[in-house]
Amino acid sequence: MAEAGSFADKVKQQADIVRVVGEYVRLKKSGQNFTGLCPFHGEKTPSFAVHPVKQIFHCFGCGKGGDVFSFVMEMEKCQFPEAVRIVAEKCGIAIPRPKERSPEERKENQQRAALVEMHREAQSFFVKQLETTAEGKAARAYLEDRGLNAEAIARFGIGYAPSGGDALLRYLKQKYAEKLLVESGLVSRDQSGRLFDRFRRRITFAIANESGKVVAFGCRALGDDLPKYLNSPETPIYSKSNVLYYMDRAKDAIRRQDFAVLVEGYMDAIAVARAGINNVVASCGTSLAEPQIKLLGRFTKRVIVNYDPDAAGQAATERSISLLLEQDFEVRVLALPAIGDKKADPDLFIREKGADAYIKALKDSPPYVDYLIARARQMDLTTGEGKLRALNFLMPYLQKIPNRLLRSEWATRISQQLRIDEPVLRAALSKAAAERRSEVKTQPELVGKSAKPIERRLIRMLMEAEGFRRELAQQLQQGGLYRGLETEKVFAALIVAALSDQPMQATEIGALLEDRDRRMLFEILFEPAQEGTWEEAESCLEALRRRLIEQELAEVQRSIEANAAGPSLRELLTRKQELMKRLTAER
Ligand SMILES: [Zn+2]
Repeated sequence: MAEAGSFADKVKQQADIVRVVGEYVRLKKSGQNFTGLCPFHGEKTPSFAVHPVKQIFHCFGCGKGGDVFSFVMEMEKCQFPEAVRIVAEKCGIAIPRPKERSPEERKENQQRAALVEMHREAQSFFVKQLETTAEGKAARAYLEDRGLNAEAIARFGIGYAPSGGDALLRYLKQKYAEKLLVESGLVSRDQSGRLFDRFRRRITFAIANESGKVVAFGCRALGDDLPKYLNSPETPIYSKSNVLYYMDRAKDAIRRQDFAVLVEGYMDAIAVARAGINNVVASCGTSLAEPQIKLLGRFTKRVIVNYDPDAAGQAATERSISLLLEQDFEVRVLALPAIGDKKADPDLFIREKGADAYIKALKDSPPYVDYLIARARQMDLTTGEGKLRALNFLMPYLQKIPNRLLRSEWATRISQQLRIDEPVLRAALSKAAAERRSEVKTQPELVGKSAKPIERRLIRMLMEAEGFRRELAQQLQQGGLYRGLETEKVFAALIVAALSDQPMQATEIGALLEDRDRRMLFEILFEPAQEGTWEEAESCLEALRRRLIEQELAEVQRSIEANAAGPSLRELLTRKQELMKRLTAER
């Protein structure tokens, strides 16, 4: 948050969101706003808008919205302080040396620094366990068996978490408070409140963030313990979907060679890197997340997916292809041939066939469409039904090919390979394209429209009418006039802000709201400007008061009908009279 008087606040005051966004998105003036194609979701017609006066942006398609900082954070996949720095640089605002921060920020930074330090110590603890203990010896034998010698163990910082249950805990406890230990995810608490090591009797792989700091561990069971793989939980310094294993060391090679090899697990990444291919990263698990793809996309837009050949790996490959295509990646897929009757993951393949064979396979790896056709050909193509299933499997990917000529070429190949009449396939393709077009048109579901005009007007006045905002907020609050409205939560947040006498910042208020409510607020703020008067506000308030009375009246009426002979009938009737009178008075 840009606190008043802070550097971030100063940058926000001086920065022009139109100019900053304009560096990423081609913007066109449209009425009071600027519009363009949303950089956060694929679209052909603009639903992304920037408001030069309010200094906010909003996408009516995917619902992303915020101020100049949230835009840069989303675009650059960076944290708030970094976004402030980037915006300041773009706008030529001198950046002060980092010094005094807010107390909470300082505390959070200290906590993060302590957690990083703790992970560094845990890492040397695990490494030492592997090197020096009897248990570690068994682990070393296992690694040796997997082809990992001492040199590799050292190079990749592989360690061992002993079986005792509290060895690491005892080591760290001397220095760190219990709360921080639990926060780190290295230590867990059982039901009785006792602390114990999260990782026991496991090989440890250090997971580093982009700048090479160990922030988590991925651990493989040494014996038959379940789960086979156990990772660090989400912590203040680690979010699984933001980190790719080995990225810190692979990024230079990825940038230089302009492609990356994407594998599933640490052992695969290590095997591939040891084969001399340093531009490899692992998603650490089968599901690749969008932030991981965006991280990778900062270094290259070309990737070879080489997941495990089992069913889970295949499904993950297909899902990854989809996600990667959405982010405009050029995707190739390496499906390694089985060795004997064993399905080969990269680790096994390199151990059995050698590095050169792997490099050759990598070079020959086909574009994703070929891989998908090969998958489709495994389906039963002897029946019409089977062919239809194969076609339905391929169609979504085929549609994602942006280039028309290329798409047409692939359509021909598919029809040949699957023996489907080409006209039939082309008809299916253009039907799908037409459906997609109509989908795009109807897709932006505008949540703001569910708010009634009165609500929308009042929200705008609360935001903009400096002269009577406070009075308006008080009136709304006193009668609880906004309760039960579609926009109830938006009003609640606006009223708090208005009564605090702070400037009304859409982004900051939006940050307090759930996604749907925030979208509603932003959509309303992007509606054409209209001068609001106190008279208009009063008539809106009146309408809300009437609404409440009518509601209560309906309720009383229902009770009267339901409980004709009850003891409270008299009271109900009196109340009804009162309400009717008030309703006439309000009129
Ligand atoms: Zn969007």
